[in-house]
Amino acid sequence: MDQLTWRARAKINLGLDVLRKRPDGYHDLRMVMQTIDLYDEITLRVVEPGAAGADVTGDDMTGSGPVGIDVIGDSPVHVDASGDGAAIRLRVQGQDGLVTADSHNLAWRAAELLMKEFDIREGLDITLIKKIPVAAGLAGGSTDAAAVLNGVNQLFELGLGERELMERGVRIGADVPYCIMGGTALAEGIGERLTRLSPAPQAHVLLAKPPIQVSTKFVYSNLRLSDGGAQGIRHPDIDAQVQAIRDGDLYRMAELMGNVLETVTIPVFPVIGEIRAQMMRCGAVGAMMSGSGPTVFGLFDDLGKAKGAYAELSKGELASEVYLTDFYVPEKIATGM
Ligand code: ATP
Repeated sequence: MDQLTWRARAKINLGLDVLRKRPDGYHDLRMVMQTIDLYDEITLRVVEPGAAGADVTGDDMTGSGPVGIDVIGDSPVHVDASGDGAAIRLRVQGQDGLVTADSHNLAWRAAELLMKEFDIREGLDITLIKKIPVAAGLAGGSTDAAAVLNGVNQLFELGLGERELMERGVRIGADVPYCIMGGTALAEGIGERLTRLSPAPQAHVLLAKPPIQVSTKFVYSNLRLSDGGAQGIRHPDIDAQVQAIRDGDLYRMAELMGNVLETVTIPVFPVIGEIRAQMMRCGAVGAMMSGSGPTVFGLFDDLGKAKGAYAELSKGELASEVYLTDFYVPEKIATGM
């Protein structure tokens, strides 16, 4: 095998609680994570040593993936042929150039981490077709890193198990281990302590991202955990939500949705609350901001209602990006492998 294409799926948080700020500046969290079927496509291709730095012509890139030379143009191609053999070449298409195709890209960092550790001398071509909204609370970068770790492990037959990949993933980002695991999970610590849960009861998921940028740093630095009054911090009952998932009770699970970070974002960006309210008016069983936002998701038990809400939000002005998708159960979980 010298090439593979991977779907790197996004996540939402069904519940997000922040327990405390730690002395190292990170926060201790409790989150219920759920993979959704919105994905970036990543094609990895092994090339001869040095060839990752060579110019690529049309036929060279067609391959079995959805990638042709005509889709490369969105970002400059960045090549690192560091001289000691291994070389990575990355190109990114989609999301209007919001993601750079250089060594800051988490997909790149994931490849570099394994290629250095295992002293891989061949070159690696990575093509990333970015569909997950960027800086949106959907773990787009983390899931790309997870896919590349998985892919490099397979392509170069490194023989790393899931746990070993997760141990490496956390060096790239706190959400990467979860993205390697996928499915429904309870994430604790900074997000790296994971407990697999049974698949959440199926729901249609509507995502709407308002046309604003919210940095994760801004959200956490403005979170006042001790302020039970003014900010109205109400901690979601994560344990009860986990139980609702175990019971397969979509309505109870949705009723228990809560994200303490909304106490920071909604007063500053009321549009987040307005999208949530619109989703509920359209018949969502629950709606909430994902992660540190600004994307809002709504869960629907009825496809017709979900499509109606999709149409409403698409024609309105609250959201700049709207997607309709579902919860995703990874194959390894669905088949019990
Ligand atoms: P999280 O939910 O984990 O907080 P997010 O969805 O809010 O993540 P990302 O889409 O992962 O945020 O992007 C955060 C930043 O990471 C972006 O501003 C971008 O510059 C950088 N980044 C690096 N690599 C990637 C990548 N492959 N895809 C998206 N963003 C990336």
